[in-house]
Amino acid sequence: MDYDIIFSKLHKKLESIADNGKVANYIPELNKVDPNKFGVHLTTVDNQNFSFGNANEKFSIQSIAKVLALTLAYKLEDEKLWKRVGVEPSGTAFNSLFQLETDLGIPRNPLINAGALVVSDILISHLKNPKKEFLEFVRNISGISTINYCPRIVASEKATGYRNTALVNLMKSYGNIKNDIEEVMDFYFNLCSIEMTCQELSKTFLFLADYGISPFSKEKILSKSKSKRINAIMQLCGFYDEAGEFSFKVGLPGKSGVGGGIVAIYPNKYCIAVWSPKLNKRGNSNMGIKFLELFTTETQTSIF
Ligand code: GLN
Repeated sequence: MDYDIIFSKLHKKLESIADNGKVANYIPELNKVDPNKFGVHLTTVDNQNFSFGNANEKFSIQSIAKVLALTLAYKLEDEKLWKRVGVEPSGTAFNSLFQLETDLGIPRNPLINAGALVVSDILISHLKNPKKEFLEFVRNISGISTINYCPRIVASEKATGYRNTALVNLMKSYGNIKNDIEEVMDFYFNLCSIEMTCQELSKTFLFLADYGISPFSKEKILSKSKSKRINAIMQLCGFYDEAGEFSFKVGLPGKSGVGGGIVAIYPNKYCIAVWSPKLNKRGNSNMGIKFLELFTTETQTSIF
């Protein structure tokens, strides 16, 4: 399949649709990005690569990184993990507080902020030097040694992270955060600050299209069953209160971030990453979703 030709054809189609999205501004550093950037990169499980637009520019992957934190925590905790975080779609915004009270401090799933904060806490309990070891894990999965945190984004999130601080405090009151709150916040903000290009993102997530095996090192990152389960969680929870719509329109497991990135997996075939910084009302990339809808329709590659 010549994905390059399909990318430019679909991008032309998108140009005729008005983009009424807005770049995230609740984290001031994110608002400095050029709203007109657009990149896409697809890597197949047999390592063929297809690119379009700004696919080699780094951007803040934000909540997409929650999947990588979940991967490491699941590896370390096995099924015990699910005592501290659920696997149900939340149907609420990524930073919502209200379910946590009725759910007694157990987040609905690991991909909303509350869930990723618990996953961060779990990683801190397991690792001697959590930020360093987590970064090594990500570099190892992707085979890309230059992947890094962005200190500017970390500082910007720390300065404005009122809701995340509220979430962590509420969960601590229920006993579902074991470590020091400052340390959990610091790890979480670093996690969200990771920068990648579309090309790097599609390579990093390719192990989820290959049943848990890193296509580069051939190392088993996760068992086949765990890889399936992470895909299932992305399918149901990857887009918060828009997860149903993403499934309906695109039909692939995926994850978004407020930096405007989206990664989506077609098991046994490919991983695709799209970047378009303007977000819709649910905090997901407006054109990113539209592009993927056109793409899976055109290539008939929905999992359903
Ligand atoms: N760092 C962001 C936050 O905590 C991540 C949100 C997202 O990408 N949906 O608010």
